[in-house]
Amino acid sequence: MSVGLPQIIGHEPLLSRLAGAVVSRRFPQATLFVGPPGVGKQRIALWVAQALLCEAGRDRPCGECPSCRKVLGLSHPDLNWFVPIRRSKASDPDKQVEEAAGLLAGGLAVLGLDLGRSDRLIVAMTHFNFKSIFAWNMFLYSGFFAIVGAYLWTLLDRTVGGYATSAGRVAFVWRLVLTTGTGSIFGFLIAREAYASALLAPTFIVLSIAYGMAIYLLVLIAACAGSGRPLGREVTGRIGSLLGWFVLAALYFVAVFHLTNLYLAKQAGVERFLLVDGGVSLSLT
Ligand SMILES: [Zn+2]
Repeated sequence: MSVGLPQIIGHEPLLSRLAGAVVSRRFPQATLFVGPPGVGKQRIALWVAQALLCEAGRDRPCGECPSCRKVLGLSHPDLNWFVPIRRSKASDPDKQVEEAAGLLAGGLAVLGLDLGRSDRLIVAMTHFNFKSIFAWNMFLYSGFFAIVGAYLWTLLDRTVGGYATSAGRVAFVWRLVLTTGTGSIFGFLIAREAYASALLAPTFIVLSIAYGMAIYLLVLIAACAGSGRPLGREVTGRIGSLLGWFVLAALYFVAVFHLTNLYLAKQAGVERFLLVDGGVSLSLT
């Protein structure tokens, strides 16, 4: 063997068992070689590949034919050789948790600050009027932050991986309550004349799930394309059809919302503005 690979030393009983399986054409579809480092697992796997692909047609590789040489050079078209690559620092689980938590914190900060009067956030954080949905939202959002942090932890740390499903469920239920709170703000507090409807809460839920799922799908496709990982039609198809159902549900809620408003005579003017005259448009002059 001229390619610098070490000779197989010992293992003769194993080699003759493998050779027997090769010559009887009953070699299993999957074989796992287990043993301490340096014992020759990879070398024997290559030997098996040679034996299976050798053109001499014996139970053991001849080591001389083009196939045997190509296998040893890892250039045989029927040989796929996978090498584990140590992950870089940026993809350490700890780093991923930090990055995810940073994104979440940024998103929450935008929610808290985008109302134009960021100083009011202090009031909302220090004075709790539990008759107000805003006070509840403070707890809903900060609780969501902690729960999603715990959920990410269960996803990335295998020692607590057993809790991933329960943590995911808690996060999902919490998120439904949270979006109900946000939806209720729009349903009952802001622009009450236009929106006063309990339907806003479920509409917010289906819309936020639809948006989130669409963005998740785009990020998944981009991440797989960027890292060269295959992304099966199975996965994109299932997420895509689920997304379709949520979009349909959103259309349904929006339609019911507008129909009930049209039914209520006092809302007709507002509906006319939303649907016919103005729509929801903001122009800065
Ligand atoms: Zn050969």
